[in-house]
Amino acid sequence: MSGFMDNIRRVEPYVPGEQPKNKNVIKLNTNENPYGPSPKVKDISVNLDYLRLYPDPAAADLVEAIADYHGFKPENIFVGVGSDDVIAMSFLTFFNSDKPILFPDITYSFYKVWAALFNIPYECQPLDSDFRLVKSDYMKENGGIIFPNPNAPTAIYEDIGTVEEIIRENHDSVVIIDEAYIDFGGESAISLVDKYDNLLVVRTFSKSRSMAGLRIGYAIGNSLLIKALNDVKYSYNSYTMNRPSIIYGVASVEDDEYFKDTVARIVATREKFIKDIKPLGFTCLPSSANFVFATHRSVPAKEIFMAAREKNIFVRHFDLPRIDNYLRITIGTDEEMKAFVTFINEFLNSKKDNCK
Ligand code: PMP
Repeated sequence: MSGFMDNIRRVEPYVPGEQPKNKNVIKLNTNENPYGPSPKVKDISVNLDYLRLYPDPAAADLVEAIADYHGFKPENIFVGVGSDDVIAMSFLTFFNSDKPILFPDITYSFYKVWAALFNIPYECQPLDSDFRLVKSDYMKENGGIIFPNPNAPTAIYEDIGTVEEIIRENHDSVVIIDEAYIDFGGESAISLVDKYDNLLVVRTFSKSRSMAGLRIGYAIGNSLLIKALNDVKYSYNSYTMNRPSIIYGVASVEDDEYFKDTVARIVATREKFIKDIKPLGFTCLPSSANFVFATHRSVPAKEIFMAAREKNIFVRHFDLPRIDNYLRITIGTDEEMKAFVTFINEFLNSKKDNCK
């Protein structure tokens, strides 16, 4: 083998959920939002002649719209290509200590991948037997902290008091709260940004704003943190936000009514779905997200996952310790969830028939 092979970086990449080519599926596997972007986004026709020009490297229109929306100044907002980009930049910017960064053992699996990619030491902190964060595990020396709230894939929300204590007790580290799912339940840590200069809150347009395909994420934090993030971004790629993303992003932020209405619909569907699958033998962890994490009392999760797939219903199964008997089921429309319930009924009945 040629010598250059020795110099090739080898990494174990993050594995995203499947995006099936067949459009004729009920897709409940990647926490997308079934309602699509605001009509105000759909109504815009972007002048493609402008694509010959580079976009505004600061994405100022979008930064301003997000700042206004949350009642902050533009210097408190950083935008990126989905929250994945924002979090990756944050790892590069804030996690430069020899001490390990801390995050839960069961959480967004990309954290481990970025830590490995950027050679950041890390230590996973086990969730307790109810899959809750153990606050005391985050009260030791560390090079930084990150966790999602609500957590993924468990959907469990930790109360803002717990979150604040972790931020307060770690004033020498940057604490990142990944709020990809916060709009579906729980109190945001954004209200703590003015109080704690070590706090960075990361948000996305992919879930509650139904724009996963556009790729917009952002962070809110103290202006010193945001400046540091921008300095790293400008050392890597100045033009992360393309012109259409900036325009569509602003339009989405301006339609609060649609945003609130669709989020409320998803929350209502979630509550109904949890009620519907309980009598069928499922237990769901308490969900504050646009998905549920469910286990069945007798049928292994993997078996249900495969049987659903056969029927073109895609949900997510993780073959990982402690959670391999759970399914992560995204909340779609009422009709989609009804189709899942019908499938489960038929599947469980067919199993009963086979046992007769
Ligand atoms: N954080 C969490 C907890 C997630 O589940 C996801 C979605 N995979 C992301 C961040 C990234 O989302 P996006 O890059 O689409 O904003």
